[in-house]
Amino acid sequence: MTSAETGNTPLIIALSKGRIFDETAPLLAAAGIEPEEAPGSSRKLIVGTNLPDVKLLVVRASDVPTYVQHGAADLGVAGKDVLLEHGGEGLYEPLDLKIAKCKLMVAGHADPTQAPPVEGRMRIATKYIHTTRRYFAERGEQVEVIKLYGSMELAPLVGLAHRIVDVVDTGNTLRANGLEPQEHIMDISSRLIVNKASMKMKHARIKELIRVIGDAVAD
Ligand code: AMP
Repeated sequence: MTSAETGNTPLIIALSKGRIFDETAPLLAAAGIEPEEAPGSSRKLIVGTNLPDVKLLVVRASDVPTYVQHGAADLGVAGKDVLLEHGGEGLYEPLDLKIAKCKLMVAGHADPTQAPPVEGRMRIATKYIHTTRRYFAERGEQVEVIKLYGSMELAPLVGLAHRIVDVVDTGNTLRANGLEPQEHIMDISSRLIVNKASMKMKHARIKELIRVIGDAVAD
């Protein structure tokens, strides 16, 4: 470790509250990092830890790669769905944390008689517009992709779209809305991501963190 690395240069970790934080907490604990409070238990967006030089940034899940890409955070925890959509520029993705697992799926009406007729191109509603365009383009299917920010399941019910692309865990949300998973795009889990410059500047600390967290990841 160089003298620059042994100083108290802060190490900033970006993550989202909820499932990703809850499932990352035991991995951070294995690395001796205990947040002073659970993200979301207050309105604090910068949460200290038991280690004076390690801080957590509480950000929207889809913003985690942006904070890490630009070096506002050294490390982050982000779903593979979010990383695919972001593109991964400026990031290393050294570890699959095997948490917050789900599947990226194409879903549509369980009862095809309820589906709106397709005249021209099929419309697909999603927040994953890049991943969706790529998926259908690779299959040689021409579709119109409609960007939504949430509640994708509503789109086929009101004729905004024929189908949706979304992450599915239990499938309960789809079922509750008369939809069903139809095509499996890919398995999703959360990944540890690292800013490329931080990996150089804080190499020893980050490498050790990756090693310890990697050992703690459940098989
Ligand atoms: P489900 O268990 O399939 O009903 O999932 C409920 C909702 O939670 C879905 O509409 C998804 O948008 C969201 N969801 C489920 N699992 C994840 C995950 N691992 N990451 C992000 N969003 C998720």
